[in-house]
Order: sequence, then structure tokens, then C-alpha cells
Amino acid sequence: MTVMAWFKKERKPRTAPRERRDIPADAWEKCDACGHVDLREKFERALQVCPECGTHRRFSAEEYIELLTDEGTWKELYANLRSVDPLSFEHYQERLANSIRKASSSDAIYTGLARLEGQPLHLGVMNFRFMGGSMGSVVGEKIARLARRSADKKVPMVLVCTSGGARMQEGALSLMQMAKTSAAIAQMKQAAVPFITILTDPTTGGVSASFAMQGDVILAEPGAVIGFAGQRVIKQTIGQDLPEGFQTAEFLLEKGQVDDVVPRGTLRETTARLLRHMRGRKVPKSSDSAA
Ligand SMILES: [Zn+2]
Repeated sequence: MTVMAWFKKERKPRTAPRERRDIPADAWEKCDACGHVDLREKFERALQVCPECGTHRRFSAEEYIELLTDEGTWKELYANLRSVDPLSFEHYQERLANSIRKASSSDAIYTGLARLEGQPLHLGVMNFRFMGGSMGSVVGEKIARLARRSADKKVPMVLVCTSGGARMQEGALSLMQMAKTSAAIAQMKQAAVPFITILTDPTTGGVSASFAMQGDVILAEPGAVIGFAGQRVIKQTIGQDLPEGFQTAEFLLEKGQVDDVVPRGTLRETTARLLRHMRGRKVPKSSDSAA
């Protein structure tokens, strides 16, 4: 008996499976915020939100499209628009060609139509991998066209924003996109078509100074940096220390600049619900006649 007990005791730890040994080293990822290490697959399943600390890691434009559309309904629009090089800016042509190849989008935004929980939707998703989501004439043109199409067809527009700012290689033309997109969005508002913006990390510069802040409803992801100029520049200009949490989604919510901070896990559901409410206002209420 004692021999058996001794034998069993010994066996247990030795035969315990060590699954980790079968997993290749590159299948692991680390959260930069808290140091938590987990399987890449687990991060992917959690929509790139750290299961330990809730930090929202970068999510690709393609992943946002998948998240915010019904399967098989996404149809890209204006994919053939390409930036020209109006200033003959050094290396701009090469950088554009490289970005198109690497980021697999024609510029720093995808635009298209889709359905979300069955509702028609015009969706624009900025692509940070394409020259830092910088806004040049193509980004502006695509948004303006999508907004005008929304006004014409009475289809709501949702824009997922991320941007480092205006595209300096296009000089003043990139700044004009702020006015152009704003004018098209104003047309959409006159037609009473719902417009929602979703601000992700980071949303800065000319994008934050135009369409990103013009949504009827402005949502932001937790922890996203949202602002116009960089903190160092502001600090130098005003010669004062900045308050804690300055330029984060949560800070802006407190100050009334954004309407809600929505975790990525509920972003799809929240957007769909908002669209239903907003469209409901303009649709004759069938429930009224039933009541
Ligand atoms: Zn973490």
C-alpha cells in the first residue's frame, strides 16, 4: 500500500502535460500596458483588448470593418481613388506606392456600404497603417462622396477615425479637406441623415478638428488619445502643466466633448442600437397606430 501511494505521488507531476511546450514562441503576445503575456489567439478573440488590464490595443481597419458589418455585406466604394503628387514632394510617390502595397488599401481610409444588424449603412474606416492615417485629398474626397451619397440615399454614415493629422506632403490641399468634408457633412445633416463617429487611438490634428467631432453622436474607445495639437506643443505654448488624463477619451467625456466611451466588446451592439434609435425618429411609427 505504502509503495503504491509513493508511486502514485511520484507519477502525478511527471505526467502532467506541459502544453506550453507545443506552442511556438511566436504565438505569444505581451500587453505593453501591464506586461500580461497571453496567446495571440486569445488577444484576437478579445478584439485586441487585454484580458488582464482592459487596455485597447491597436485594431486594424479591416478588423473594424468586420466588427461593424454583417458578414458578406461589405462592398467597398471609391477604391480606385489615388493621391496625386501636387507639390512634387520629395519621395511622396514612393511612399504612396509602398503604403498601397503594405497597407493593401488605396489610401488612409476604406469607404463602403454594408449592413449592420440588417440596417443599411455607409461605413468609413481610417487605416493608421497607411501613412499614419494622415488626411490628404483622397481621404477628404472619399468622406465627402460618402457623405453626399448618404444625403442622397438617406443611408446613415458611420466613420471610424484614427489619424496623426493632415498629410504634409500635400500641403494646403490636405488642410482644405477639413472644409470639404465639413460642407458635405452639413448637406447630410440638412437631409436629417444620422451620422456617428467612433474615435479610436489616436485621433488628432485636422481629423479631430473636422469630421471626427461633427458626429450627431461621438463615441470613443477607452484610453484613446484624442486632441488637436500634441501635449508638448500645448505645454510650451501656454506655459502650464496639463491636467491628468488630458486628451484621453475619458477626459473628453467628462468635459462633454464626446458622448460616450464604449469598450470595443460592445461597440457593434451600441452602434446598431444607436442607428435604430436615430432612424426611428424619421420613420413613421407603426407602433403608434398599433397602440
Ligand atoms: Zn494589459
